Amino acid sequence: MAKTRVRDLAKELGLRHQRVKDMLRELNVEVRGPQSVVDETAVEIIREQAEKERAARRAATTVRDVKLPPVIGVAELADRMHISTSQVQKVLMGLGVFANINQAIEFDLASKVAEKLGYAIESEDVTKSAVQSRRATGDDPGNMPRPPVVTILGHVDHGKTTLLDRIRQTHVTEGEFGGITQHIGAYQVKHKNKRITFLDTPGHEAFTTLRARGAMVTDIAVLVVAADDGVMPQTIEAINHANAAGVPIMVAINKIDVLNANPEMVKQQLTEYNLLWENWGGSTVMVDVSAKQGVGIPELLEMILLLAEVGEYKANPKIAGRGVVIEARLDRSRGPIATVLVQNGSLSVGNTIVAGDKFGRIKAMTDDTGKRIAKAGPSMPVEIVGLSGVPDSGDKVEEVPDEKLARTMSLARTGASRELRLHGTSQVSLEALSHLIAEGAVHELNVVLKCDVHGSAEAVKQALEKLGTDEVRVNVIHIGVGTISESDVMLASASNGIVVGFNVQIDPPAKAAAETEKVDIRNYQVIYALTQDIRLAMVGMLEPEYAEKKIGAVEVRQTFHLPNDSTVAGCYVIDGKVQRNSVAKVVRGGEIVRTGKLTSLRHIKDDVREMAAGYECGIVIDGFNDYEIGDVIESYIVEEIPRKL
Ligand code: GDP
Repeated sequence: MAKTRVRDLAKELGLRHQRVKDMLRELNVEVRGPQSVVDETAVEIIREQAEKERAARRAATTVRDVKLPPVIGVAELADRMHISTSQVQKVLMGLGVFANINQAIEFDLASKVAEKLGYAIESEDVTKSAVQSRRATGDDPGNMPRPPVVTILGHVDHGKTTLLDRIRQTHVTEGEFGGITQHIGAYQVKHKNKRITFLDTPGHEAFTTLRARGAMVTDIAVLVVAADDGVMPQTIEAINHANAAGVPIMVAINKIDVLNANPEMVKQQLTEYNLLWENWGGSTVMVDVSAKQGVGIPELLEMILLLAEVGEYKANPKIAGRGVVIEARLDRSRGPIATVLVQNGSLSVGNTIVAGDKFGRIKAMTDDTGKRIAKAGPSMPVEIVGLSGVPDSGDKVEEVPDEKLARTMSLARTGASRELRLHGTSQVSLEALSHLIAEGAVHELNVVLKCDVHGSAEAVKQALEKLGTDEVRVNVIHIGVGTISESDVMLASASNGIVVGFNVQIDPPAKAAAETEKVDIRNYQVIYALTQDIRLAMVGMLEPEYAEKKIGAVEVRQTFHLPNDSTVAGCYVIDGKVQRNSVAKVVRGGEIVRTGKLTSLRHIKDDVREMAAGYECGIVIDGFNDYEIGDVIESYIVEEIPRKL
């Protein structure tokens, strides 16, 4: 009889090895690894059990209804579907969103989750059904070819800006507005009657920042490499950023006019990064150019169009417009102005739109040459006037049927869901990932790795990759030498990964970015500590450590009894600050007499979130009434502490 191994059985039943192992364990059958042979009787029992589970799942996935408001908390959503919050989180993960259970998500996202779980969605808000029906067509990928959207990447001084300017000068429709060019963040050129859209902010920082905001705008990356300088650190970064985004790369070898230009050397160097020139049997398009002298530009555009044909970028200009804010500013006389790249459908003057948490009616649109236009179709960048405020770059833009809905959507996006909308993620800490790995929701740990020297970089990379198991892979998406930079953090953020440093510094902008993007930076001095942490994370065992941090203290100066029998302590903040919902410790004569939650914090008649030193405030601690004048109340917050090495 054929032997059945754990691995084969798992495959047959569409289960993970670990699940099969667990099922066996329940039958008191111990197996060691995926290769272990399983007893035939056990195999039969497990097959039967798996079939039963499948049937139960099928029954459970018959359509049920769930009512959704414009914004809903993760926990509430789970509740309404009668499932666990971790199931909701798992589906969110699958959609690239790391959300904690307290986070609020918008209708669109919530309905995606519900749909995936087999629910029919009913909107609690009548106006939402309008969006829903529009969404049905709004998601239509369409079948009309649209111009490709191109970003120029490469090392500093290799000629990105010169190339962008050159392309624009030579190809923008002449004569309009006396040839005045407006830099609005993107422009379109025509080559052989076909259009190409270029994003006007070169470099991978802008590219990855947009992506970290959840906006994927680029179809093709043109990597500029100077023929006299060759592959440099930011060239490699650019390659890794484009690869992480899954954007095809073509290469423009620039400055071929200079004396010591050596395009062959560049091509040779690029082979190390899996960019093999077509003529050498690879699949990467490489064009020799001189941005300064305008050499090779038509060939470059030709190749972009060729790649675009292969990519078959399509859209449907007939449906409601949607796009992304590329950049935005406040104009003194015209108000908020946003450059929007239309991604699908069309936007017209008079349309009502929502852009992030801002909304408005499009009063006027201008194209990249400053010409007023009435309508903008797919892949077209336009400046829009008429929004209620300045949106952020990366904000999604949607045309909606009416202003009332626009207002509701914009309101829904402010506040709780704003953070989620901006970042698409809550904290991507190694601990959080570890937890998700344990739950089987993540199968890949994306790592941006920075080391002190080249030698160690390769060694650490190998050590990390070796930690991969059958179920989880360590994916080093970028490896570099030197200080951890903001760009490293943004790449990790865009890839839902973490930054791992080995014997390196973290520069201040990177620290700031890590905070706002909520990306975990793990810095190690000892390789053992590094591998140990990642190993624990991979088996889902890395637990966060928490610590209480004192943020301030108050002195009780008066007490008031309320009619409901509770007592308020009238206090004076003597040090730091106090916060509502913090942990409060009542200290009397050097001893802690009570620890509890600070449930109410008032200043005069107002509820406040926090109160700083030098102010008076009223404090209520959950279930505590026995304050004495002279008591000191200390306020603590609970912080996740970076694990010690
Ligand atoms: P960026 O930092 O990549 O945007 O590079 P720039 O476009 O600012 O170019 C850096 C320098 O290289 C400038 O002094 C340019 O004039 C010069 N440069 C750019 N392209 C060429 C080229 O094709 N040939 C020569 N000789 N110089 C170039």
